[in-house]
Amino acid sequence: MPQNQNEKTAIMSPDENVKNVSPVKNYINGKWIESLGKESLDVINPANKQLIGKCPIGKKEDVDSAVIAAKEAFKTWRQTPVIDRAQVFFKLKTLLEKNSEDLARLCTQENGKTLVESRGDVRRGIQMIETACGMPTLLMGKSSEDIASGIDCHAIRRPMGVFAAITPFNFPPMVPFWFWPFAVASGNTFILKPSERVPLTQVRVFELIEEAGMPKGVMNLVHGSKEVVNSICSHPDIAGLSFVGSTPVAKYVYQTAASHGKRVQALGGAKNFMVVLPDANLDLAVKTVFESCTGCAGQRCLAGSVILCVGDVYSKFQEAIVKKAKEAIVGDGLDSLTTIGPVISEEARTRVKGLIQSASDEGGKILLDGREGVENLKGYFLKPSIISEVKKDMRVAKEEIFGPVICLANVKTLDDAIEWLNSSEYGNTASLFTSSGAAARKFSYEVDPSMIGINIGVPAPMAFFSFGGSKASFFGDVKAHGQASVDFYTDTKVTVQRWVKDSSIW
Ligand code: NAD
Repeated sequence: MPQNQNEKTAIMSPDENVKNVSPVKNYINGKWIESLGKESLDVINPANKQLIGKCPIGKKEDVDSAVIAAKEAFKTWRQTPVIDRAQVFFKLKTLLEKNSEDLARLCTQENGKTLVESRGDVRRGIQMIETACGMPTLLMGKSSEDIASGIDCHAIRRPMGVFAAITPFNFPPMVPFWFWPFAVASGNTFILKPSERVPLTQVRVFELIEEAGMPKGVMNLVHGSKEVVNSICSHPDIAGLSFVGSTPVAKYVYQTAASHGKRVQALGGAKNFMVVLPDANLDLAVKTVFESCTGCAGQRCLAGSVILCVGDVYSKFQEAIVKKAKEAIVGDGLDSLTTIGPVISEEARTRVKGLIQSASDEGGKILLDGREGVENLKGYFLKPSIISEVKKDMRVAKEEIFGPVICLANVKTLDDAIEWLNSSEYGNTASLFTSSGAAARKFSYEVDPSMIGINIGVPAPMAFFSFGGSKASFFGDVKAHGQASVDFYTDTKVTVQRWVKDSSIW
């Protein structure tokens, strides 16, 4: 149990009637302290609009304190043997397993996704910790003897100092884990700024980080929004940062932080295409496409959005997916019968409704209108929508929707499908459904996105592979997690050495 459990923060159970909830605290230098920001945002359960917490809008000075703590902690943490650093991660893994159900419930409360989805969100986070436990091996460098006569060369990976991450609302537990375990296990210290819309899950994670025995100052949590982000981007003592969020903010953060001399990896928004060939297993394709497009209420950066059906599979696919969508049960994610939870806010729901309307105005055919039948539900619900006869220049074909909407289009050939999806400004993922190895090979070879699914709807690389897209979905050059992450968070230091024999000694 953390020592200061009672003073820390106010996280409510879903059943509590929250009235005078105080803002969550920052965690800086091993202490839970109030933010210097006096304003706060309400954290609302999107399934029932209940107030479940408050997130302070932090100030530059909060970031300054966190950087001072992290900079000081770096002095000893970087000298702690990597095998000892890894021990904290082993302990944290055990604590996360023990508390995984609580974390999942908290995630469902503040984000809205179903409990099953939240469990997956937590599981993926734990896998990052498991992978970071292997840092003694991941961190190893390279050596060569006799690069010239009698001269040897050693390249080691060294931690660089203080890193930070700024994360989005859609995966409250998992996305922060994409970054800090790799940064911290490799010897850096860290500041996390979670989304101000979902701060509660990370508060709980930090309690567990504290309980695992992470030395003070190594991990710091600062809540806030723009001011905190800007302070992180420009702080002279932050070596680099990882960002995940929408494309305009990703681009802004990338440019701002890079102009201040930092390493940056900024993962942005997406528009994911899925191609169905006539030789696909139709049942698998329908089930997988539907789950990809509507899972997490469509609020996944890997969510399928536009389905390009090649040739005569179009009508069969259309009919089958409408049937499948009618089986969906929209409701509170804590209810075990629910298959689709709410979107995050009324603002998000209005934006998605507007995009559905734009499709209709631009000549698309609404086969299923998810705006209907949700009027009497308490939260920000949308049922699945299916739009057919989608054309390349329609808004729904170009913009990220981030809601449970499936756009269907008919193309003549696989080449037409590839040409269409490669014309998108985004490049996160693309999927193909087929039983042909040759088609699969052509697809992976020719498409622009960096994460490809073959008969897979959400091709999310596991913790030990790198993660990140291309084009407007990724700004930077070194991707997240896996070995790439170790490269991002370390500097390669090369020593070239020659030793001349002193014959008087031996
Ligand atoms: P967002 O861009 O609104 O917010 C992300 C972070 O940026 C938050 O921490 C927020 O506080 C901060 N922020 C927001 N506006 C800012 C501004 N003007 N200046 C400085 N900081 C600002 O994104 P979101 O709505 O929380 O998340 C959804 C988006 O994230 C989607 O576009 C989704 O595709 C993307 N996403 C991408 C990936 C990926 O791997 N590429 C993964 C998850 C989410």
